[in-house]
Amino acid sequence: MASALTDPTQEFRDRTLSTVHEIYRPILRGYFAVFATYYLIMSPINVVTTIGFEMVVISLASSIAAVTGLFGTWLLRKPVQAKRVECLLLWMNSMVIANIAIALNIAFEQEKLTYFIIASMLFALASVSFRQALVSIGICGAVFLIFVQRIPYEATISLGYLSFAGAMASLAIAFFLRKAIVNIAEAKIETERELTKARAVGEEMREKSLSDSLTQLPNRRAFFAELRRVLSDQNNGKSPDKVWLILLDLDGFKAVNDIHGHLTGDNLLQQVAGRLERFVDHQAHVSRMGGDEFNLIIVTREDEAHVLKKCQELLDLLSANYIIDGRQVRVSCSMGCKLLDVNESSRTQINQADFALMSAKKQGKNRVVVFDDAHAERAAARFKIESALREADLEKELTLLYQPQLDLKSSAIFRAEVLSRWCSPSIGSVAPEEFINIAEESGLIADITLLVVNKAFSDLIKWPEPFPLAINLSSLDLISDAVIDQVIDAAARYSIDPQLIEFEVTESAMLADFEKASANLRRLSKVGFTIALDDFGTGYSNFNYLRVLPINKLKVDRSLLENPGDPMTEKILISLVGMARALGVHCLLEGVEDELDLLTAKRVGAGSIQGYWIARPMNALDLHRFVTQEKSGYECRNVG
Ligand code: C2E
Ligand code: CA
Ligand code: CA
Repeated sequence: MASALTDPTQEFRDRTLSTVHEIYRPILRGYFAVFATYYLIMSPINVVTTIGFEMVVISLASSIAAVTGLFGTWLLRKPVQAKRVECLLLWMNSMVIANIAIALNIAFEQEKLTYFIIASMLFALASVSFRQALVSIGICGAVFLIFVQRIPYEATISLGYLSFAGAMASLAIAFFLRKAIVNIAEAKIETERELTKARAVGEEMREKSLSDSLTQLPNRRAFFAELRRVLSDQNNGKSPDKVWLILLDLDGFKAVNDIHGHLTGDNLLQQVAGRLERFVDHQAHVSRMGGDEFNLIIVTREDEAHVLKKCQELLDLLSANYIIDGRQVRVSCSMGCKLLDVNESSRTQINQADFALMSAKKQGKNRVVVFDDAHAERAAARFKIESALREADLEKELTLLYQPQLDLKSSAIFRAEVLSRWCSPSIGSVAPEEFINIAEESGLIADITLLVVNKAFSDLIKWPEPFPLAINLSSLDLISDAVIDQVIDAAARYSIDPQLIEFEVTESAMLADFEKASANLRRLSKVGFTIALDDFGTGYSNFNYLRVLPINKLKVDRSLLENPGDPMTEKILISLVGMARALGVHCLLEGVEDELDLLTAKRVGAGSIQGYWIARPMNALDLHRFVTQEKSGYECRNVG
């Protein structure tokens, strides 16, 4: 930056004061080389053409001039201090003048006086400073004037003109040549400066494009570049070390953003980045992929146990309290690790590390999972399902089953839950939990939901009497305005009374994006659909949702009926049902498989039940038969 403010002329001067500018060096070298050659040739000639004391003097003078010339040529082959060159030039020029003077002394010839003029022009051409040129030309002129006295008056006049012209030419050369060189030098300095600036800007842009603006950590691009680099090192056999890829995702970051606001969220990410950097201490490459995802690339000779130990230490460090604006904030984190193999593509291996990360999340978060053979098998199976799902003709392959729900008070089937079944011609039947999950992760769930909704509506209008249905919505559906719009449109298109349809949603939708999910729930509720909170008792079981959201029914997860005789389970069920009732929400118990479950459901005060004891999921025709048959005497089940 400082150099951008200095004046180029000043800079040139400063530089020429310290070292001879590189533009100038070839001229000066040429100058010394000319005199070196000239006097190397002249020295033996002088020895031959003179005798006695004269020979000694002129040979000595020409030899000294030749040596000076050689020395100057050698000295200027690389940057050299301007002062030293100034002295050397003065010495060289004095030697030249001395040689002319000695030669004239030995044998005076009037024409030889022009040597002084030629010499002064050369001095002007090759001067390191104007001052030095002036001194050299001055000495030359003085010696010239001494010899001028030896010639007749008439000749002096014509020589006077000649020398005057020579002196003028020398001075003009000295002045304008220097000016020209200064101009070139300035232009060069300017270009250099522009180049430096351009390089700095380029470097800054490169750094910016490779670093994340919030945390200053390397970004996605930098991560991929580093991954390519370490893998290519491995491939070339340059590194015998192992490369570990670790994907890291914060648990509960979304909640921090929702509860404390985005500024706190940003601050948290910066603190996480700081802890990560300090922990790895340049021993690994840390990058931020976006959001609350970070990656580590570790090149190490240590074994898996050591890497896992380090990951666990990092996990503990990142889970320790953060202080943001005087408030304590806590998050944990999950990690997916993969030992990289040069023979596999980096894309595949990133997916594998991601798979391990997903497993860590599914196993309850706040843990490290290494991608292993079992994961590889599961990932391959998952990939097969995902590919089949992408290519499936779901219109044909996806069918719907209906599972009745029974009201315990009236002993009547009052609704049926719509459950999807997918039988792929290539891979056979896939469990709904599995393909729904994969559809969610691969962005196909909206298509499935809309297909299910349309098929269910189309079944519904075929029945002589409309029958209430419950349809599952994925959390991704609930946070998508477009899906909710299309669901509402479909009901209008089929002229379905919204009162007949209940949408089952899970708490995960609220956790994903509370604002969006609650807004869409309100829209559905406003149209007249009812809402059930599904799988209650498995997640956070947040009763607050029942209070603040338009939820009409609580579906208690079947896992709570797994130990029907257990007094603790029963106490939990009683409190769940009691709480729901207090909030004016209907309570349905899922997974009622036998009489024991039924008794429990009745004892804890559930309003309705669903489960194999009533019926397994069945097709539309069977449901119709089942419902009409129930009407003519369901009491045979003796539930009343
Ligand atoms: P869910 O919504 O909790 O559905 C109830 C599941 O429990 C169904 O499994 C049903 O067959 C099963 N079930 C019913 N009664 C009993 C019982 O007495 N004992 C036992 N052990 N199980 C019982 P299914 O059909 O395999 O569906 C599994 C999950 O897949 C569903 O759980 C739901 O989360 C999801 N799913 C199914 N169809 C759809 C759909 O169309 N859309 C969405 N988004 N999810 C669906
Ligand atoms: Ca359900
Ligand atoms: Ca359920």
